[in-house]
Amino acid sequence: MRFCRFNDNRIGVVRDDGIHDVTAIIDELPTVKYPYPLGDQLITNLDRLRPKMEALADAASPIDPAGVKFLSPVANPSKIMGTPANYQAHRDEAEADSEISQAGYAGKKIEDQGIFLKSCSALIGPSEGVAVRFPDRRTDHEAELGVIIGKPGSDIAEADVFDHIAGYALALDMVVRGPEDRSFRKSVDTYAVLGPWVVTSDEVPDPGNLDFVLKVNGEVRQKSNTSLMILDIVRQVSWASTFYTLNPGDILMSGTCEGVSRVEPGDVMDFEFQGLGRMEIPIRAHKT
Ligand code: MN
Repeated sequence: MRFCRFNDNRIGVVRDDGIHDVTAIIDELPTVKYPYPLGDQLITNLDRLRPKMEALADAASPIDPAGVKFLSPVANPSKIMGTPANYQAHRDEAEADSEISQAGYAGKKIEDQGIFLKSCSALIGPSEGVAVRFPDRRTDHEAELGVIIGKPGSDIAEADVFDHIAGYALALDMVVRGPEDRSFRKSVDTYAVLGPWVVTSDEVPDPGNLDFVLKVNGEVRQKSNTSLMILDIVRQVSWASTFYTLNPGDILMSGTCEGVSRVEPGDVMDFEFQGLGRMEIPIRAHKT
């Protein structure tokens, strides 16, 4: 199943003929009271809700995706994790360009850098657009496979990782280049893009062999395949869970390939992932 969040917080099941509005599924979520549980309630309850979502989709007329505003398909992650420099060709370009690599990180193994966090307040869907906050500095795109956690877990064994994954989406780990702490520079409002929908893991038999391409204004900037990851999805999720309890709806951005480059207001990114979908993300100026 593919599901999205669109327009004014509508929930949709995405099928080949269009988007089917299944927003009524929200009435099936359990009532939660303060203090609210960490994580995304729709994804927490997804296995139970799926048959009902499919039935609601059967009864709904398809909507043309071209006229829809896509929000982040995950509304309430408890954290957004990022794996640094997970493709060798990107490591090489970063080491050759001091504007990309942070002082002290060049040449350092992923295992020695650790997984970093991006603020949840940075999260948007593609239609909201990325707002360049500091026009005098370099804001780069990093095209990545987004992994959505489905079941809670800590110290998840590698053999059990796929039981904890709800699905996948296209992810952009946007970043202001510069000297400050990485999490600070990657947590600017709108600098975490997820979309256009989540494809559930049963429809992605091998996330470790997917082509992806990101264009800016029609020109190819990043093009690779997830088989070129240094740490695969299993290793990343298992490792992350040795530091963080993973909650349903948590997002792992699994690292980017070579070709990162600057974007500026007026640009449009076009990002496509084999088997997952395609989305356009406009770049705009930050409004003060
Ligand atoms: Mn990244």
